[in-house]
Amino acid sequence: MLSFPIYLDNNSTTPMDPRVLEAMLPFFNEKFGNAASRNHSFGWSAEEAVDYAREQVARLVGATSKEIIFTSGATEANNLAIKGVYEMYGSQGNHMITVTTEHKATLDACKKVEKMGGDVTYLSPNEDGLINLADLEAAITDKTILITVMYGNNEIGVVQDLKGISAIAKKNGILFHTDATQAVGKIPVDVLADGIDLMSFTAHKMYGPKGVGALYVRRKNPRVKVTSQMDGGGHERGMRSGTLNVPGIVGFGKACELSQNEMAEEAVRLSAMRDRLEKELLTIEEAYVNGNAEHRLPHVANISFKFVEGEGLMMGTKDIAVSSGSACTSASLEPSYVLKSLGLDDELAHSSLRFGLGRFTTDEEVDFAIDHVKTAVHNLREMSPLWEMFKEGIDLKTIEWAEH
Ligand SMILES: *Cc1c(COP(=O)(O)O)cnc(C)c1O
Repeated sequence: MLSFPIYLDNNSTTPMDPRVLEAMLPFFNEKFGNAASRNHSFGWSAEEAVDYAREQVARLVGATSKEIIFTSGATEANNLAIKGVYEMYGSQGNHMITVTTEHKATLDACKKVEKMGGDVTYLSPNEDGLINLADLEAAITDKTILITVMYGNNEIGVVQDLKGISAIAKKNGILFHTDATQAVGKIPVDVLADGIDLMSFTAHKMYGPKGVGALYVRRKNPRVKVTSQMDGGGHERGMRSGTLNVPGIVGFGKACELSQNEMAEEAVRLSAMRDRLEKELLTIEEAYVNGNAEHRLPHVANISFKFVEGEGLMMGTKDIAVSSGSACTSASLEPSYVLKSLGLDDELAHSSLRFGLGRFTTDEEVDFAIDHVKTAVHNLREMSPLWEMFKEGIDLKTIEWAEH
């Protein structure tokens, strides 16, 4: 039995796994203690639960538990990494390097760094979403203190050459931060093998609760520190004060443990499903995959349908919950800056759909989505004069449109 709309937006957030909820429940009432209370058993049992969760989180990414700083999510972790490095290492330089296709949390933290007197280089990716390592090397100056490049892109799923990037950072004595929010729990991420110094991730993109995430901060080779952005009781080794979200952290830990155990199998299932969805949708004429088709996350497909109007496409696909090529950061119909960075024009960016499959997506749901999108694109094109002209072989670029 299908229930509508079908959820295919797992890059925005994921439903919580029932096993995660079950692990969290006792920490809302019977085990409600403050993990920082040292004088009684309420505090001790909360602290014990947090310690255990910290291990579960650390283990998934190859870190040690002391290197995990709990935050309210990846937005906060990105802010702490970027502004925290800027403030901590300011005496060594004021230059940072990032990419135009990063998440807003990274781009806006970089903007803030510029306001504080820093200097940021925004690299443009290639048409397939991957950055050019030569561009990265060329952008490095003797003032560069941080390179921040995301692991897997939230809109197109492209996975960057992390080892290549971190090797360049290491060679030049520069810290490397990655926003691995979309990658952790979906593909193997190992902070040591990948050469990562700081890494952001969040529970609600991996079947855990909203409002809890982490920043990995390396403790050895080199020992990294960030200036706290939230000051107070000195929690989290002084890098992030505030009473710990014990139920959230317990849920995050459980979500990490489940991903660690199930990721390999899940990735095989999801990529097969994604490939089937993509293959079927590409039988539609003038449909294109956005982003490198090889180096990408297993569960994401971003497809543009030419000669289809963006708003019409969203209206026509109401039975599936997907994300469109319009910016999701505001109510406006701005085309996605990520797709534009790949060189797509506004029209094509608008007429794109992002499909994010997940742990609870079924074959039956994918079958429905395939039919639903095929029908919507067909119907919209039936009404489109541009499509008609295209089918008549008129080269639309040669037409002189009346000014208006
Ligand atoms: C969702 C997301 C974030 C923001 O995470 P929150 O925990 O919601 O703050 C940051 N980066 C990427 C790549 C994301 O997909």
